[in-house]
Amino acid sequence: MEEGVYDKNNIFAKIIRGEIPAKKVYEDEKVLAFNDIQPAAPVHILVVTKGEYVSFNDFVQKAKAEEVKGFFARIQKIAEEQGLDKNGYRIITNHGSDASQSVFHFHVHIIGGRPLGALIPGDTSHR
Ligand code: 5GP
Repeated sequence: MEEGVYDKNNIFAKIIRGEIPAKKVYEDEKVLAFNDIQPAAPVHILVVTKGEYVSFNDFVQKAKAEEVKGFFARIQKIAEEQGLDKNGYRIITNHGSDASQSVFHFHVHIIGGRPLGALIPGDTSHR
């Protein structure tokens, strides 16, 4: 895949189209949230735009301000609905190869349900 070019056959596009099953947590006309297939914690939800954006970079550059705001507001709501706001949670979005992005459809991970430790495994500088 050419870098930065959206591939309509990526796995999350297939989940959005209903071609591949996923355990949905939330859905509206702009956003879909579902459980990660390989959860890193008791709660590990992927929140994806229905719009075709490759990554965080692409989303923030191309989406209207209202869509960006709505997306992040929805993440907050989902975290709250999962009861994560009380003890805390982490949101992660990986852009590009240094961040090990593996699915090239913009998504944010919501991770929580246990103490999450260091931001980067082995790195205690953020504690
Ligand atoms: P990235 O590394 O791109 O930030 O995250 C991609 C995430 O998608 C990974 O955490 C991976 O476990 C998850 N994932 C990959 N394929 C599937 C799938 O088919 N279904 C679900 N629910 N999650 C997936």
